[in-house]
Amino acid sequence: MRVAIVGNGVAGVTTARLLAERDGSAEITIYTQERYLYYARPRLVDVVGGRAAPEEIRVYPAEWYAERRIRHVLGTCVTAIDPTEHRLTLSDGAQAPYDRLVLANGASAWVPPIPGMGLPGVRTLRSMDDAVSLRDAAAPGSRALVLGGGLLGLEVAAALEGRGVQVTVVEVFDRLLPRQLDVEGAAVLQQHIERSGAKIITGQSCTGIEGEGHAERCLLKSGQALALDLLVVSAGARSNLSLAQSAGIACGRGVTVDARLHTSAADVLAVGDVAEFEGRVWGIVPAALAQARVAAAQLAGDESVRYVDIVPSTTLKVTGVDVTSIGEAIPEAPGAVEVRSVRPAEGLYTKLVVRDGRVVGAIMVGSRARLRAVNMLISQGTDVSAYQHVLLDEGFDLLGLAQQRVPVPGRE
Ligand SMILES: Cc1cc2nc3c(=O)[nH]c(=O)nc-3n(C[C@H](O)[C@H](O)[C@H](O)COP(=O)(O)OP(=O)(O)OC[C@H]3O[C@@H](n4cnc5c(N)ncnc54)[C@H](O)[C@@H]3O)c2cc1C
Repeated sequence: MRVAIVGNGVAGVTTARLLAERDGSAEITIYTQERYLYYARPRLVDVVGGRAAPEEIRVYPAEWYAERRIRHVLGTCVTAIDPTEHRLTLSDGAQAPYDRLVLANGASAWVPPIPGMGLPGVRTLRSMDDAVSLRDAAAPGSRALVLGGGLLGLEVAAALEGRGVQVTVVEVFDRLLPRQLDVEGAAVLQQHIERSGAKIITGQSCTGIEGEGHAERCLLKSGQALALDLLVVSAGARSNLSLAQSAGIACGRGVTVDARLHTSAADVLAVGDVAEFEGRVWGIVPAALAQARVAAAQLAGDESVRYVDIVPSTTLKVTGVDVTSIGEAIPEAPGAVEVRSVRPAEGLYTKLVVRDGRVVGAIMVGSRARLRAVNMLISQGTDVSAYQHVLLDEGFDLLGLAQQRVPVPGRE
């Protein structure tokens, strides 16, 4: 069986690895438009910050692929799919037949349509080439503006700060990490970041970028103009859909897949940031890994394996502060109870979201001490209703409850 995989990110390479383990006879070829062997995309910020060289974030050496008989075609874009003929067209004009195809071609940074965004000096961070060029442009003492106070924006800001760049972050929402944190959690985080010297502007949008031949100023809705040497747009990512769309494969925000990770085209699967399952594209590594596991099983003939959507979990360290957001951290519907512990002077904020007596989400800023317990409570669906109002009290044994050492009324 010839299996072609488009994309050598975590989704494509994990699918290849697990398929090779399950079926040694599969002829696996990975095509990627990048010039690099698979690297840890989240570690691109280390390259920007000068903490790692490009080769240091590579995950496997070339021999690793050879040992598994995985063919790796670098610097080659798949430009078209013919799902009827089971054939790919490559950027060098060659045609490549396949029996099964896995779309693992990921996502691209999204740049909002704002006047001036096409000027030289406007950058995004998605690929190794982006990271190297951003690193080289970040001169100590220069002024950088990061548009977007989400996860990636804050990590880039911290990396640039580490290189001696003066950083300002502009976030259109009224708080940082709007997808992961509530108002109180974001305020604690913002205090931490501002102490490190970065400037944060929330509740403001960029209306235009100006400059003579390159980006020099960012205009805000308030009328303020911020002078800059470097602009990094971190406004989210969008699935790379054109390849699937032009082959007539059904797409929403991502390539639509079912629980077997099959697309609307026969023998074509999709995994990772390019795939949309039940209306969602998570855009994070845990979802890519979980989907790759299912796709590999399906390709190896184990058709009973199904993808079950993940509980999203985010943990990052911004300028030394731990920030974790799990599951339904910001209640999505009425009926949830929020249990909080707020200690701003110590930079600590914890919140649990309880629905129908079970923890379904959490925010933790400043400490990971309760992380293990909370993860267990969520994954086990432990009934916490008897302790709901004391869960975060000093001295309450949350881990004991998760490990069933604290009695739960009504449980045998
Ligand atoms: C800087 C940064 C930090 C991040 N940090 C985190 C984090 O801390 N935690 C987390 O969970 N997630 C993080 N993410 C998101 C995470 O990296 C993605 O969810 C993950 O990389 C998705 O993997 P993927 O294999 O689906 O796609 P990608 O990693 O995007 O890989 C797709 C590959 O396909 C190639 N490709 C695209 N089109 C074609 C084509 N037509 N032909 C050939 N090749 C093609 C691309 O060049 C790319 O190499 C971060 C992302 C970035 C950019």
